[in-house]
Amino acid sequence: MKTSLVCPLDFAELTTTENGLTCQKCGQKYGYETVDGKQVIDLRATDVSTVYQVKFKLPQQLLAFKDIHSFGRATNSPFEGLSRGEVLKKFGTKLHKESMFYLQELLSSKGGGIRILDLGCGNGGTKRYLQGTGFTEIVSVDYWSSGAEYLIDAHRLPFADASFDLIVTTATLEHFANPFVAFKEMSRVLSPGGSLIATGSFWESWHGQSCFHFTPGGMYQLCESSQFELKDMWPGWGFIPSTLSHATGTRKLKPLFFIWQNIFNAFLRLAKGRKYAFLHSYRTAGSLGIYAIKSVN
Ligand SMILES: [Zn+2]
Repeated sequence: MKTSLVCPLDFAELTTTENGLTCQKCGQKYGYETVDGKQVIDLRATDVSTVYQVKFKLPQQLLAFKDIHSFGRATNSPFEGLSRGEVLKKFGTKLHKESMFYLQELLSSKGGGIRILDLGCGNGGTKRYLQGTGFTEIVSVDYWSSGAEYLIDAHRLPFADASFDLIVTTATLEHFANPFVAFKEMSRVLSPGGSLIATGSFWESWHGQSCFHFTPGGMYQLCESSQFELKDMWPGWGFIPSTLSHATGTRKLKPLFFIWQNIFNAFLRLAKGRKYAFLHSYRTAGSLGIYAIKSVN
């Protein structure tokens, strides 16, 4: 895909040189980094600091428990694609069923040619899944990964405004040092009406270089502050496998923890009803996913 790459410092055009790219305006040079033996162009500008001001509108609207009941569309809809386990095995990526549901829906409604930013691409598993599903225009970026076409900083994206129709970013939000800035950047590079499919962690205090972990209210605030209309939110894994996996540090027992969670969920539905169990799954989620649309005005 031909991308409108720009200088992340001033959004000016870049010219190709022998050793990489150079900004036509500020003269910043972007060279290559070797990541796991692969040469990747580095557009992070790690040697340049910029000051970023974030505007907030007050009073802020808060997400109430009752608002949760407007969510769950993807969770409660039938999905005929591969299961999470099959996707992991075939493409080497972990995607929530709900993320795949919205990808399928976008493929049907907008076609495979929409411009996708695969943000925090890791080893490239999500890109392989997207290509396997029928999407063709994908740009994969990461702060540091050999699967990336460009090394980027999510707080200073090297793309012109409205460069993409969809951003897919999974298990990444907790790595943003300032999620409000990163959300504003994602909003900026999306075209009006463009979609965001994103997931972030909650039930672990810290894993390598994670900064903020997400609650439903936090997700809502991020969308509200950056021109996103939050269309759906879903809980990822439950509190039992997420807390126990991190607490014990073992992968072997994970399947057992998932069984315990399923037993707990079934018991809760029987004892307290479906509506209570639904709200409870958000109150105790180990991670959260969102589907949001960039507002047209
Ligand atoms: Zn520049």
